Amino acid sequence: MSSPPHHEVAAYALGLLDQEDNEVFERHLVECVDCQTELTELADVPDLLDEVRNKRSPIEGRPG
Ligand SMILES: [Zn+2]
Repeated sequence: MSSPPHHEVAAYALGLLDQEDNEVFERHLVECVDCQTELTELADVPDLLDEVRNKRSPIEGRPG
């Protein structure tokens, strides 16, 4: 209960926090514009990773 959990943003965005830490961070998040901004930027990362994985899917449905 010392410092504000600013540093948890990345872990939160990636879903790495425990449920307890998750709740603590969410309580902080609603009051912290800095973390909201950073989370918005980080939130794009998992989506980007998914897109990359989809594009790299092996060739399976070859016609013929
Ligand atoms: Zn913060």
